[in-house]
Amino acid sequence: MLTDEEYLKIVDDPTTLYLQVKQFVSKNGLQREMKHPAADRYRECTGVALAHTFWLLHVRRSDYGPDCPACGKPYRTQMAKFCAECGHGLPLK
Ligand SMILES: [Zn+2]
Repeated sequence: MLTDEEYLKIVDDPTTLYLQVKQFVSKNGLQREMKHPAADRYRECTGVALAHTFWLLHVRRSDYGPDCPACGKPYRTQMAKFCAECGHGLPLK
């Protein structure tokens, strides 16, 4: 998982990447390899080669919400009202 700062160093423009991946996957599916400079940068920075550039859309830690204070797992989305792992509710703001 990458911080927002790390993510933006690897993915210059997340919206453009999303649209490129969406177009590629709808045309070719996930079975066909998709070359992308951001996927190469991710591999150089982390040492992990993603199976598909599509997975680059799922490595930003902030997309999964805060950590649950009860169990420590991510809430899974930024909009979550409770922890999907243990059911702990987010404190009211
Ligand atoms: Zn929890």
